[in-house]
Amino acid sequence: MLHRLTIHELTARLARREVSARDAMQACLDQVARVDGDIRAFISHDPADALAQADAADAAIAAGADFSQRPLLGVPLALKDVLAVQGQPLNCCSKILGQFRSPYDATVVEKLKAAGALIFGRLNMDEFAMGSSTENSAFQTTRNPWDTARIPGGSSGGSAAAVAADECIASLGSDTGGSIRQPAALCGCVGLKPTYGRVSRYGLVAFASSLDQIGPFTKDVRDAATLLEVISGHDLRDASSIPQPVPRYPQALTGDIKGMRLGLPKEYMVGGLAPEVKSAVDAAVKQLESLGATVQEISLPHTDYDVAVYYIIATAEASANLARFDGVRYGARVEGADPLEMYANTRGAGFGAEVKRRIILGTYVLSSGYYDAYYLRAQKVRTLIRQDYLKAFEQVDAIVTPTTPTPAFKLGEKSGDPLQMYLSDIFTIGCNLAGIPGLSLPCGFSSDSQRRLPIGLQLLGKPFGEESLLRLAHAYEQSTPWHKEHAL
Ligand code: GLN
Repeated sequence: MLHRLTIHELTARLARREVSARDAMQACLDQVARVDGDIRAFISHDPADALAQADAADAAIAAGADFSQRPLLGVPLALKDVLAVQGQPLNCCSKILGQFRSPYDATVVEKLKAAGALIFGRLNMDEFAMGSSTENSAFQTTRNPWDTARIPGGSSGGSAAAVAADECIASLGSDTGGSIRQPAALCGCVGLKPTYGRVSRYGLVAFASSLDQIGPFTKDVRDAATLLEVISGHDLRDASSIPQPVPRYPQALTGDIKGMRLGLPKEYMVGGLAPEVKSAVDAAVKQLESLGATVQEISLPHTDYDVAVYYIIATAEASANLARFDGVRYGARVEGADPLEMYANTRGAGFGAEVKRRIILGTYVLSSGYYDAYYLRAQKVRTLIRQDYLKAFEQVDAIVTPTTPTPAFKLGEKSGDPLQMYLSDIFTIGCNLAGIPGLSLPCGFSSDSQRRLPIGLQLLGKPFGEESLLRLAHAYEQSTPWHKEHAL
């Protein structure tokens, strides 16, 4: 049962030499073999390499390795297929990258390796991280471990499902408009999107560079704090990373949230919110109050514009970022009579329908004559949205909302209707537009379906306010039973 442990439970046993890293790795590999035929979270993994990494960790432990220096020593992790690992395939679950393998490690991967982690698999995602259900993967459809007729969320659906199904101890994903928090909520994990600039994006394939951040998926809040500390920090290779010292995040988990001021945005508790989500979030707010937090209503008046602004800025940036996939630099190529025809053939065959839709939208909003009307105006409204949050944080220490309007929906339910799919991100997008940190953690289960489906609570914080979010989340988690439940 080692695959069911958290990072801190596993490393405590490894440090006491009660279990070996090989045992832990084998337990995860066995779980992948047992359940991934149904869940389909992994697009590739290499058991022989995984066990070799585990043996190296065991040798380091036998030689007296210091777990305070290497907090992930012997811990099996898997990564979203958007993060570069030297020598491994890197596809973003798109056909356009063909047989491409990464020549270098992302900064977060360097940091995970230095901390001793065993990186053993690549996880499914919506193609180029565009989607909310993982149905846009060119490779396979991942299923929600709580109900395999339902989606795991997206775009980091594989990262959430793998953790929820105990196929790995924790994972990393990326979040541009909710892609960590939304699947974490729908699969019952903890998911954290750091402040923009907290974590280096070097080696993360760009979707929308001004919104993208890498963050952890974990089984509890303590593990999220541990992973965040490992992956954070300034990086000269990412000019948008911020030179701000990295706190010892696990030390923020004091259990004491007395006097913390929480804001409930009145704009978030309306239309389309499923009754079971509303009642779980209401109960969570009461619980936080009973732990000593104070609660007040706040207003984020520009919330109505979040989805529209996001789908202008994100698609504009995506259309520029994805121009590099042209059949010349990376992966697949479909020949043509001349270079222009080769580009068109390659991109026509290589990109899926949603990616093409975004490139066309993004190119349109940046084109001359429309730039001022769409892109420039969206940037101005983005500033207003950020100001709403910063103003709210003059009154409160954190903002509490549902992570998603509904629990996990059925496979195929929204895939024919892009607008309905986009609206499932309504509560997560503002956080990326404002550049602030956001965390989702389990706060209950829906009661009116035959299967129990997890519900997520979202906590939003000030820029670089991750410690407050983690402290709040941890206090709530430790006073509730939700994190102890396993999907399988
Ligand atoms: N679901 C959103 C989108 O489709 C967010 C994706 C993400 O955060 N990568 O763009």
